[in-house]
Amino acid sequence: MILHIGLDDTDSPRMGCTTYVAALIIEELSRMEIQFIDYPNLIRLNPNIPWKTRGNGALCIRILCREDDYEDIKERVIEIVEENSDLEYKGADPGIVFLVGDIPEEVKVFAREAIQGIVGMRETIKIIKRYRAEAVGYKTRRGIIGGLAAIGENLSGDHTFELITYRKRENWGAPRRIDVSSIFEMNKKMGNLTFNNIDPETGRVLITPRGSDPVLYGVRGESPEAVRNAYKLICSYEPIDRWVIFRTNHGTDAHLEKTYLIRDVKPFYPVIVEGRVEGVPKTVPGGHVIFQVRDETGVIDCAVYEQGGSLRKVASMLTEGDLIKVYGGVRPPSKKNPLTINVEKIEVISLADKAILQNPLCPICGKRMKSMGRCKGFECYKCGFHGPHLTKTAIKVERGIKPGIYVAPPRSERHLTKPLSRYGLEKNWIRGKTFTIIPPEEIWGFESISMRRGNLSLTVD
Ligand code: ATP
Repeated sequence: MILHIGLDDTDSPRMGCTTYVAALIIEELSRMEIQFIDYPNLIRLNPNIPWKTRGNGALCIRILCREDDYEDIKERVIEIVEENSDLEYKGADPGIVFLVGDIPEEVKVFAREAIQGIVGMRETIKIIKRYRAEAVGYKTRRGIIGGLAAIGENLSGDHTFELITYRKRENWGAPRRIDVSSIFEMNKKMGNLTFNNIDPETGRVLITPRGSDPVLYGVRGESPEAVRNAYKLICSYEPIDRWVIFRTNHGTDAHLEKTYLIRDVKPFYPVIVEGRVEGVPKTVPGGHVIFQVRDETGVIDCAVYEQGGSLRKVASMLTEGDLIKVYGGVRPPSKKNPLTINVEKIEVISLADKAILQNPLCPICGKRMKSMGRCKGFECYKCGFHGPHLTKTAIKVERGIKPGIYVAPPRSERHLTKPLSRYGLEKNWIRGKTFTIIPPEEIWGFESISMRRGNLSLTVD
């Protein structure tokens, strides 16, 4: 039978990572000789929900197993989750969901809502009961929301891959030791088969997290081969405990699909809003650029924060009347600020004409004329010509931006934001008539002592 195992919310800012728990489960399932019918799925849910730990990621492992093994599998998964969750931490509320058979349409819709909005516990439990799934939740049990959502998002549309390497336990918390130059080389060699390795504006390495979680680095790319090849090119000076390839919705814009009228925009939702720029964008202390957009239902503030890099420049060049689409997450109003779209991307549809008014040129000698006072026309200082009826002339100004898509630089992108390098590379997951069995050795592996030595040792942290 087909079994989907969804899990979420095992970690805390001080410890762990749900992808690591998934890696341990995958290893255990491989020992039990079940078959994997997909790469493990790493599904990023709504990046704006306030109670996420980091990137709001949930996991699903999809397998083919004998009915007789179901209870054993369940037991082992529960044990691994319990042993590796930060249960003492207040905000960690692990959840595991087991669903047998095909994924019901309603579960797929639930997943879309969890990626593009906010879903509730009551709704989650109703669906779990309706489809006779089983769920195990700890503390507030909130993790079962993400667990069910990860099951429902089977990534049949655009998707990418991420190979994550994990550190030996004794190295958790210590600075990560990777040859940075090998990351730059890998980035160059792989072209756009991998993405978001390095921030092009600052040169910052983006594949390594900061902090004490077990991840050494994660490389994102278009195919399992691409991320595996990238992995072979990266030199690590600390041993890699294990690696896993996940199929994900990273870099697909899965959260940004719904266009909203401004009056319907709600806090914490990812939204697309189409309208005209109102007034002049302003740069506020801290370097953030704030501008306003209006549609037929209202007006809303849009903010490009300091880390928005070049997108800030684009925002500051907008002018009254420009027709644009703004993509981003909605920040609730505070004492100081109104409801605001935290901009991830701007699509300039059409630019308004921008003009400056200049004194006219003298019709006799061609020199720029001087005003003779309000409504009194102009005179030429060079040849003395008086033009009492002459008026200022409007000169069209070059705008410096063009219609097109402008995206925040990778260092400030959400996991889900589609980077510019991925435009045109969108794909579908082609399955066989029934399903494809993925051999475990293509999904995960150990790399016991793989300290690939070189001359240059650099610390990434
Ligand atoms: P990490 O990325 O490090 O795994 P995280 O950022 O995924 O951590 P979690 O600790 O998993 O954060 O917390 C997110 C919690 O919010 C989970 O319990 C999940 O079930 C729940 N959740 C996620 N998306 C939604 C949503 N759209 N609506 C309601 N609850 C959600």
